[in-house]
Amino acid sequence: MISTKKLALYCHVPFCAHRCSYCAFYQEPPTSALVERYLSTIEEEFRLLNITRPFFTIYVGGGTPGALGANAMDRLCATLTANNGSLKPAEFSVEFSPCTVKREKIEILKRHGCGRITIGVQSFSDRIINLLGRRQTAAQAIAAYETIASCGIGNIGIDLIFGVPTQTLDEWLSDLRCAVSLHPHHISTYNLTFEDGTPLQRHALSGVTQKKSPDEEADFYAATWEFLGENGYGQYEISNFCLPGCESIHNTNTWKMHDWIGIGPSACSQFENRRFSNPPSIGLWSETIKRGALAYIGVENMDAKTLAEDSIIFGLRMNSGIDMASIECEFPSVDFSRLLQLMAYLEEENFTKWDGNSVRLTPRGRMVADAIALQVLEAM
Ligand code: SF4
Repeated sequence: MISTKKLALYCHVPFCAHRCSYCAFYQEPPTSALVERYLSTIEEEFRLLNITRPFFTIYVGGGTPGALGANAMDRLCATLTANNGSLKPAEFSVEFSPCTVKREKIEILKRHGCGRITIGVQSFSDRIINLLGRRQTAAQAIAAYETIASCGIGNIGIDLIFGVPTQTLDEWLSDLRCAVSLHPHHISTYNLTFEDGTPLQRHALSGVTQKKSPDEEADFYAATWEFLGENGYGQYEISNFCLPGCESIHNTNTWKMHDWIGIGPSACSQFENRRFSNPPSIGLWSETIKRGALAYIGVENMDAKTLAEDSIIFGLRMNSGIDMASIECEFPSVDFSRLLQLMAYLEEENFTKWDGNSVRLTPRGRMVADAIALQVLEAM
């Protein structure tokens, strides 16, 4: 049977000039030898993939894609868009960190069809930026936004982080005010996570720094949702807000369980009911590919139950929720009886709201979406 799922391409650019204190992503310093090895291996990986379908969306993330120079960016884009010929993807997004924004690179991206850029601002407060171990200033973030806007990029997003130790609610509201004053099309707000092995986590464990309590986090969530809603940014996913019609098509298709192929070290894929990833090492990834084989590790065949669970968990993250009748119809071999009992209980407690066959999280439910996801797994 021919898949009706849309196919997306995710490209991981694993370069960062230094490591932020909260970051657990795989990344390396961008030396010219390593960048050359990366680009030539991406080209080879693309040939080995042998996918002839055009990509519905293309997303370049990292790491720091902007760590690539203009020529490297040009070469990477030429590879990524090769499948599409003259067909423009519905969305071509690239992540940028403010210090790496240069007009020349943005113009190259635009020439290759990139129409969406998200800027990893994280905060407009230099105090918070320092706490996060990032190397940028608020002034650089604003200048980066203005450069991208002046190049005529039609959809610009700003990513922000809240819940930073010692950050006050007033500081966070001031970040949101500053973001809104730039009139971006999209705003993502992420609750800071303390990942294993990061300096941030070590400081929290040794008592040097303190994580926000669940009540404090709830205050940050509530203030964010209220402020952005009042300023015209509709919430369409727990962490994502936009002006009307500016939702991320790529991310939405991921939450809707469409297929995506990830290329580059540590990139994950979900393709034809299998999940797999590349190793988090340029060396291992490129050695395997140069020998003529794809470097996939952790290949998992997703059975009907896993696919149904993920459709529910990711679907509930979106404000539009899920259509339970369609999910039951798509996975007839799965027993949903315990899940439906759970959903009834969650509605009684005002965590979910049913509307015909559709169910979605209420604001109270969105605050505890991760806990609800665990309950869904237990009930399936
Ligand atoms: S820029 Fe992003 S990927 Fe690089 S270290 Fe910082 S958080 Fe991690």
